Amino acid sequence: MRKPIIAGNWKMHKTLGEAESFFDSVKGKLPDADQADTVICAPAPFLAALSGRAGDGTPAVGAQTMHEEEKGAFTGEVSPVMLTDLGVRYVIIGHSERREYFNETDDSVNRKVKSAFAHGLIPIVCVGESLEEREGNKTAEKISGQVRAALEGISAEEAARAVVAYEPIWAIGTGKTATSDMANEACAEIRSTLAELYGQETAEQVRIQYGGSVKPENIAELLAQPDIDGALVGGASLEPESFIALAEAA
Ligand code: PEP
Repeated sequence: MRKPIIAGNWKMHKTLGEAESFFDSVKGKLPDADQADTVICAPAPFLAALSGRAGDGTPAVGAQTMHEEEKGAFTGEVSPVMLTDLGVRYVIIGHSERREYFNETDDSVNRKVKSAFAHGLIPIVCVGESLEEREGNKTAEKISGQVRAALEGISAEEAARAVVAYEPIWAIGTGKTATSDMANEACAEIRSTLAELYGQETAEQVRIQYGGSVKPENIAELLAQPDIDGALVGGASLEPESFIALAEAA
């Protein structure tokens, strides 16, 4: 049985005070850790303060990206060593906004996934097709190719701990949600790619999230699908009440 995982991606939103008060508001109102994992992927400047507040009854803390190197002349970047030093446990890798606006490629995603595992971080690896690719019947090819590229050189033991987020680009922040059948079909494609790479047993352990305009009103139907093990949520993760409702659905 895979434990559901609900992760919020705050993107470039909130002040430190707002972030801290969110953690205070949700504390103790989320499902028990043995029932579901909850994570907030916060902007880098808030990670230290939120990690200090994280514990029983709060979400775990995740980052939204990282550099693959431990240190060096990479102005503005954050390293995996810095993240683990702060107590950060998860890191989103290859979000479509990073791929689109910050030149992340399948190769750089793969280097970051390797580095995340090497430092004990759990990567939330994002894959997903554009509207053009979906309309051209290229969805399966695109997401399967992204999964293969992201996990190149990753062992079965590591892969089993990964979280993969299926996020159709056309559904992110647009209010358009993939139907639960469409989302499940893509998540099943990801699982069958994982089975080809690592065998069925490992593929059955990997948690696969759906992301793209998930809200309290549509999460239950998505989570009821057999290959959807959680959600990566942008807009609806920003308010405590909404995040609690999303987590309760898990
Ligand atoms: C996201 O940022 O990963 C996302 C899915 O955003 P939203 O829920 O706002 O569509």
